[in-house]
Amino acid sequence: MRKTRRRCKNPDCRGWFHPRFQNEWWCKPECGAVIALAKRSKEKKKEIREQEKRRKEARRESIKRKKEAQQERRHHQIRKLEVKPLSYFHSKAQSAFNQYIRTRDAEQPCISCGRHHEGKYDAGHYRTRGASPATRYDETNCHKQCAPCNQHLSGNIENYTPNLIEKIGQEAFEVLMGPHPVKKWTREELEQLAAHYRQKTRELIKQREGV
Ligand SMILES: [Zn+2]
Ligand SMILES: [Zn+2]
Repeated sequence: MRKTRRRCKNPDCRGWFHPRFQNEWWCKPECGAVIALAKRSKEKKKEIREQEKRRKEARRESIKRKKEAQQERRHHQIRKLEVKPLSYFHSKAQSAFNQYIRTRDAEQPCISCGRHHEGKYDAGHYRTRGASPATRYDETNCHKQCAPCNQHLSGNIENYTPNLIEKIGQEAFEVLMGPHPVKKWTREELEQLAAHYRQKTRELIKQREGV
């Protein structure tokens, strides 16, 4: 039996009492209930705080993982482009350029045979890409041409020549036929060129739809 007095832990009571057991902290059962309820409520609050903390951590972790995956994909894409040969970027740029030429000349007949027909049209280079790589992205050098003229008549050049001179003028024709400095394209420049022509095509289509 303990002789020492203790104060009740119930903050609304704080009365003195003589504990019968080592771990007795309240003077009467009602005070014990108050203390138990307060303890439970404190624990519940702590549990909620911890749940909230875990949720936040999980969210942060998920965002971090998503960012890492995104970065990984980007790096992967860059690596994929880095191992592509320059010709890959040329073909992308050329296809955007050719698309622009076909759009620009949409209302015009084939530059060589002068026909309007339902078949397929190409963007036909006057000076060929192989013989004159410096003029492969020259707008005066490329015009809408029907597939038969472009593919089966080697460009139908005897008819292309007078029609081209008529279309762009003698002066531009001579500039086109004159010497051109050979350009060393980089991947970035070719990507920019492709983007430039995609943009030009979009603007042209929008402009026409607006009229
Ligand atoms: Zn009490
Ligand atoms: Zn033709």
